Order: sequence, then C-alpha cells, then structure tokens
Amino acid sequence: MAVLIVAGLDTGGGAGLKADIETVSALGEHPLPVLTSVTYQNPSEVRGYHTLPPEVVREQIRAVRGSFKIGAVKIGMLGSREIAEAVKQETEGLTRVLDPVMESSTGAKLVDSVESVKVLILGSIVTPNVPEAEALSGLKIRSIEEMKEAAKVIAEELGAEAVVIKGGHLSYTDVLYWKGKLYEFPGERVEGFTHGTGCVFSSALAVFLAKGFELPETVERAKRFVEGSIRFSKAEARAVNPLWELE
Ligand code: PLP
Repeated sequence: MAVLIVAGLDTGGGAGLKADIETVSALGEHPLPVLTSVTYQNPSEVRGYHTLPPEVVREQIRAVRGSFKIGAVKIGMLGSREIAEAVKQETEGLTRVLDPVMESSTGAKLVDSVESVKVLILGSIVTPNVPEAEALSGLKIRSIEEMKEAAKVIAEELGAEAVVIKGGHLSYTDVLYWKGKLYEFPGERVEGFTHGTGCVFSSALAVFLAKGFELPETVERAKRFVEGSIRFSKAEARAVNPLWELE
C-alpha cells in the first residue's frame, strides 16, 4: 500500500518530508513523496523557505495517483494558498490527514496565512498542536476540557472529518473528536529531541489508516510510535553531536 506525502523539505533532516518518508518506510508501507517547499534550516532556526510553483506540486501528484494503490495522504507544510488549492483538487477522494503546519517550534512562519491551511480542512483528519488549534478555532486552550471544545469547533465549524489535538504543549494527553464523540489519549513526557514529531505523528496516522485501523486505534498507535521515535532521537542526536544538551 502506498502513502502519498505532500510536504516541505527540512535541510536539518529532522522534520518535513524526510521524517515522513522514514516514518512510512519504518511502518512497512511505500512512501510517495511530493515536495511543496524547500526550507533553509537547522535545528535552531528556520532561515527561510521557497515554495515550488503550484503546477509543479500538481504534476507530482498527478504522476503517481493513477499508478499506485494509495491508502491515505499525509499533508504537511503547504507554504502558500496556491499550493493548498492545487493539493485540495489533486487529492480529492483520498483519505486525507492534514498536519496544519503554521510555524516551526523556533517561531518561524512556514505558511503565508492561516487561511491557506483552512483550504484543506473540509473532509480531512486534522492534527493541530495546541497553538495551531487555537489559531484554527479562535479559542484559548489551557486545559484538556478546552482542547475538547476547540476540537469540536474545528470539526463542526470548519468541516473536518476528525480532529486530533496533540497535547505536547500542555499535558501530553491528546484529544480526538470524531463523529460527535470525544476520546482522550493520556501520555507522559518523553525525554528526547522533539523537532519534527508533528510530522511523524501525522504520517504514522496516515499509515495506520491505510492499513485499515479505525480512527481511535490509529491515534493510539501513532502516539506510541512518536513516543518511541523521541526516545530513539535522543541516541541519534547525541551520536551526531555528543555535546547536544537534551535535558
Ligand atoms: N520544516 C518543515 C519542512 C516542517 O514541515 C515542519 C513542521 O511540520 C517544521 C520545519 C517544523 O518542525 P518543528 O515544529 O518540529 O520544529
């Protein structure tokens, strides 16, 4: 089974398309990588990015859509409104997981506006972190109850098929709103390198959906996979730079 990945390239090798490809491969499925943007970054800063022309993104998707059995698509960094519109048209009919990437954890913008991200919400499974959920819902989130409120607003007002709000910025509990029901996925802080974990989570979600699991179970599995990858990243980061301070 193939998983289509529409995302940006991180020169630091932690997030974006490279993390997505590794996730899909590690979970035993075939990644189909479609590039939206090139970023210039390292783990401490995003210096800037360049978006590809929307026709280039469109042609990449068209080249593979008819030739592979695509179980799901993961959409990450879009960069621009024009790319978002092209991706929406070209992925119509696929099970879509949208990681609504807006800013890097270092505070750099990775899309021209929140409106560009909203283009793809209708009918998608959306995986915002707390700041992204605040931007999409217009609500302030300080508790698990407020995460639930925001998830409901994003589903009911913006038309998402399902909303998973990741609790990494708050309590490590994730919240899912799907078909009128709320689910909680308790977690705990895992020490390690967290750059790119949002990318890994949404890619893992797309893989488990492609494998045929129901949504609540895909969230549980993707969450455990991310926890494992954070633990692994600690060793990896120290292997690259023994002086890297993680704790
Ligand atoms: N670069 C790219 C291409 C991304 O897609 C993302 C997040 O999705 C980031 C950077 C930022 O990653 P983080 O927020 O983990 O720093």
